[in-house]
Amino acid sequence: MTRKTGGGKQTAPSFDLSCKTFDADIGLREDNTVEGLKRDIIRHVVSTQGNDYARPSDYNYYHGLALAVRDRMIIQWIKTQRSYYKDKAKRVYYLSMEYLPGKSLMNSLHCLGLTETAQQALKDFGLDLEDVAEVEWDAGLGNGGLGRLASCYLDSMATQCISGYGYGIRYDYGMFHQMIENGAQVESPDNWTKRGNPWEFDRARYMKPVNFFGHVQTWVDDQGRLRHSWVDTQKVLAMACDLLVPGFRNGQTINMRLWAAKSTMDFNLEYFNTGNYIGALEAKIRDETISKVLYPSDQKLTGKVLRLSQQYFFVAASLEDILRRYKKKHDTFDMFPEMVVIQLNDTHPTIAIPELMRILVDEELLDWDTAWDICTRVFAYTNHTILPEALETWPCSLIQRVLPRHMEIIYEINHRFMQWLDTLADGHPDPDSRKSRLSIIQEHPEKSVRMANLAIVGSFSVNGVAAMHTEIIKSVVFPEFHEVFPGRFRNITNGVTPRRWLNQANPGLTELISEKIPGNWLCYLDKLEQLSPHADDPEFRVRWRKVKRANKELLANYVRRKIGIECNLDAMFDVQVKRIHEYKRQLLNVLHVITLYNRIKANPGGEFTPRAVFFGGKAAPSYFMAKLIIRLINAVADVVNNDADMAGRLQVIFLPNYCVSQAERIIPATELSEQISTAGYEASGTGNMKFALNGALTIGTLDGANVEMLEEIGAENMFIFGRTADEIRDLRRSGYNPWHYCERDPELKKVLSMISRNVFSPRDPDLFAPITDSLLHNGDYYCVLADYRAYVDCQEQVDLVYRDQEEWTRRSILNTARMGKFSSDRSVAEYARDIWGVEPLACPI
Ligand SMILES: *Cc1c(COP(=O)(O)O)cnc(C)c1O
Repeated sequence: MTRKTGGGKQTAPSFDLSCKTFDADIGLREDNTVEGLKRDIIRHVVSTQGNDYARPSDYNYYHGLALAVRDRMIIQWIKTQRSYYKDKAKRVYYLSMEYLPGKSLMNSLHCLGLTETAQQALKDFGLDLEDVAEVEWDAGLGNGGLGRLASCYLDSMATQCISGYGYGIRYDYGMFHQMIENGAQVESPDNWTKRGNPWEFDRARYMKPVNFFGHVQTWVDDQGRLRHSWVDTQKVLAMACDLLVPGFRNGQTINMRLWAAKSTMDFNLEYFNTGNYIGALEAKIRDETISKVLYPSDQKLTGKVLRLSQQYFFVAASLEDILRRYKKKHDTFDMFPEMVVIQLNDTHPTIAIPELMRILVDEELLDWDTAWDICTRVFAYTNHTILPEALETWPCSLIQRVLPRHMEIIYEINHRFMQWLDTLADGHPDPDSRKSRLSIIQEHPEKSVRMANLAIVGSFSVNGVAAMHTEIIKSVVFPEFHEVFPGRFRNITNGVTPRRWLNQANPGLTELISEKIPGNWLCYLDKLEQLSPHADDPEFRVRWRKVKRANKELLANYVRRKIGIECNLDAMFDVQVKRIHEYKRQLLNVLHVITLYNRIKANPGGEFTPRAVFFGGKAAPSYFMAKLIIRLINAVADVVNNDADMAGRLQVIFLPNYCVSQAERIIPATELSEQISTAGYEASGTGNMKFALNGALTIGTLDGANVEMLEEIGAENMFIFGRTADEIRDLRRSGYNPWHYCERDPELKKVLSMISRNVFSPRDPDLFAPITDSLLHNGDYYCVLADYRAYVDCQEQVDLVYRDQEEWTRRSILNTARMGKFSSDRSVAEYARDIWGVEPLACPI
């Protein structure tokens, strides 16, 4: 049942979170009245923070409120953990090097059903909840889509009562802060906890030693068994930090356990006794660098010792924790695969496979075959990319040095896998070359471990993240693995949590939808389909437009505040925000902007559909082309925004520092969502889902989850253009010549020649030559020019529809109505049923 609440900002709690509950067992009283919350806020401001309560400031009261909210969540968490033990639940462990939760306060309040209470409590103190929530820093412990997906999945696990845990790294410095100076990206460190983090519990008593370096000793024990010991290691301690993840109004709270590196030097007195005090501290600092900083590359990784150390550090600590929990109730490992499943978020945690083998064989003394059987029933691997530069490999020499025993185990796994391939009598015409392709070890250019191959061989499930991506994995990237392991590959299409991406980000739209759809539709997103008939209701359309307009105003205020640009509210808000990468083709969008500029210049009196084109996204600091693309966007913005002929017609806005909280402002205000990657390269995308859910129309290629969005939304309600993945492959095969496209398209030719003639770089000649070179002389790998004409023509269709606001709104409503499939609840329920073998409990209606 939906009850309308006073603040009018959100759907009401869907079941009674009784104002006062008394848990005799825990002996804690949760007073969820305004007065009760106020008391707790004051108590934390004074007793925890040591501040004078009589001087309310957003900052002090943010901390007080956050701690008061955390008090309530930790009680839920304790009860949730107890219920797992009581029910003997199978545990789902999600291992991810990245999480991108964003801000926690509003989400926690919504989940606990305390938003209005907090609003009133702060009002009584003379403060505004929105301002107080602004104080919080984003937790940016991830690069982009992969980390955000992990956070959406934890939200859905908590909401569907799945006994899940997220494991990861507590970086001191998360994703860098991006500033734009003279049109170029400048990075600064994101010291996200410098003012403290009220959300986490540091478990200083849970310190787990993690070993590095050293060597392997082989010996025969008194029972005649060959034993392996990893000795003379350097130890680093892993301290658990728990961040709570509440379910949506269901009384459940799960946690992310992030590991922080702490030196063992404190205990190593003899080190100090040698007199080398400063030297000892240097070693301590070196140890603690392991969790110091997130690597800011989202697709490409190089063989850095520190990165491998991070991977092993969090995997080793997590596995020890998982085994400790299992061993509380079990004396043997027989039940391990029945009680534990470990999902590997990309190959980053794949070292968990040899690590579990090491523990089972070397420490628990299981024979190899038994250990391997357990391993391959516990691990499941999610592949996120087919970009060759993103498929991780680690030089054997490096692993040998940092993790010598693991290197031996990987060789042994590979040796047995190769032997097993020899037993396959499947009449393969060239079994030796197949073996070299499937081998976990590659010989060239340097002897290295192929982490994806290790993950596939060591897991019972390999999944792609959208139907098309999974097909490409099966037929192009790993076809022979698919042949030798039939049934191991499956698809789970990504999703996003509607709690954050609709309820929290877009309260206006949420409220309007709640008027038409009864019940807890935020947890049963398929119900959005009930909106479809209202697309034909002119009155409803007026209200739908009003919500979008209000969101555009909010974004415009933000833009004014942040960069001093005045947005044209009558313009179509055309948005591309995501990591900057050549395959995502921000360049194609820029070429279109310049084309529009030229058309307006050529016909200053003409009628044009006004557009405000927004860009946002970070470039990896070492990614030269991505950084140059940012400079080009800003240079084009400079020309466009300072040309009087463009006034009221065209604007270009680069929003610095794209992050989760900024996405929450941008997405609800967006009218046109740009999802224009080269077909075959975007594994799924999740940005695409957030936009359509908020009523943006998509212009996009047939790539990733766009394909499935098209199936749901219908071709008549999306703008699809460009070459398909097959056509891109054929084009390359038949010798793609970008010159040819440039020569026969005068508009394109003019755009490229303007870039070459320094129209956008008058004071820095040839600044953008690497861009025109890559397009014209270096083969235009991502086929920007090949799709240019189709894109520009499709954008003309967009303009035409936008002029008919009734039609645009009708399509906008249908987009939202048909996005039910893309809730992360559906994704997680599929993982639960098809991979994890656990039962999701329904969220209460
Ligand atoms: C959703 C999201 C992404 C992923 O966007 P894509 O368009 O799918 O690449 C990246 N960063 C942030 C902050 C997000 O919220």
